[in-house]
Amino acid sequence: MPVVWSDSHRLHDPDAEIWVGVRTPGNEVPARAERIREHLEGAGARFVEADRQPDEAARAVHDTGLLDYLARAWEDWEAAGLTRDPGQESVVPYLFPHPGLFAPGQEPRLAAAASARAGQFAYDTMTPLGPATWRAARAALDTAVTAADLILAGEPAAYACCRPPGHHVTRSCFGGSCYLNNSAAAAARLRSAGLGPVAVVDIDAHHGNGTQAIFWGDDAVLTGSVHVDPGAGWFPHYLGFEEETGAGANRNVTLAPGTGDDGWTEAVRSLAGWVEDGGARALVVALGVDAAGGDSESPLEVTADGYRTAGRTLGGLGLPTVVVQEGGYDLDQIGRLVHETLAGIEEGARG
Ligand SMILES: [Zn+2]
Repeated sequence: MPVVWSDSHRLHDPDAEIWVGVRTPGNEVPARAERIREHLEGAGARFVEADRQPDEAARAVHDTGLLDYLARAWEDWEAAGLTRDPGQESVVPYLFPHPGLFAPGQEPRLAAAASARAGQFAYDTMTPLGPATWRAARAALDTAVTAADLILAGEPAAYACCRPPGHHVTRSCFGGSCYLNNSAAAAARLRSAGLGPVAVVDIDAHHGNGTQAIFWGDDAVLTGSVHVDPGAGWFPHYLGFEEETGAGANRNVTLAPGTGDDGWTEAVRSLAGWVEDGGARALVVALGVDAAGGDSESPLEVTADGYRTAGRTLGGLGLPTVVVQEGGYDLDQIGRLVHETLAGIEEGARG
């Protein structure tokens, strides 16, 4: 299947993130996409340049307030002098307008100070915004939507090799190393072209909370996610439980830490059955490969064979399929894991 790509992903290169107040090394780095590219090039994949998409592609899934903020957050930060005093080179929030601060019905006004405004849109401290993060995030969304356009033009499947990832971003706030919801934008493009209902199946190790929130209660887009149980203490902690049903258009399958191929591929099969029952006419696979054993970001123990099996299951649905890259942080195996999944999808589609 064609691989959609943009060099602009390299513009976002966070060397650190702030976790529990401590500066820790960033792991959502350009080498992730480069390793995938090297592996797929070695396998003879066909690369396609991402097309610049109109702003409407982002507005279909995000509030104007969030988009306006992201577009100028770094310039505002620099203009406020924060890069000199206290010497913070990335936009990092310090104050969050928690709902408990306000009387019922009262809404926070937009904070005047750039330092405070950050917490109005970022829901964590580990998603830093650098000088060109906005351009990279916008290019990632362009990549995913271009992949959707390819299947609308008749390709049976296309893979968006994009970063930064997106599935933790809601309509109005961002976090989890994500800035714009690329998978959701691809789904919105397919739906707006009349290819509905569309299903998003998120197989990243973490709950696709942003995608769930964006399409909550919208029965034209089914959102399913298999992930490590947030109730066992995993990100995003507050969301991703099995009882979240979103008027029937949402399904979560949670797995205990330590779950390997058997439990994980069975969960993917159950989501595929749910997609089939829901009458989906197109599929977006939010492909995180951080469920792999050896990935530092999750306690799941899926193997490359497991990813190939999951690919076959999803390809076996026989739907036009857009695959959008989400997480996956083990640079030694990220290329192979993606390749196995894509190969599995193609095998499944051949029947
Ligand atoms: Zn993840």
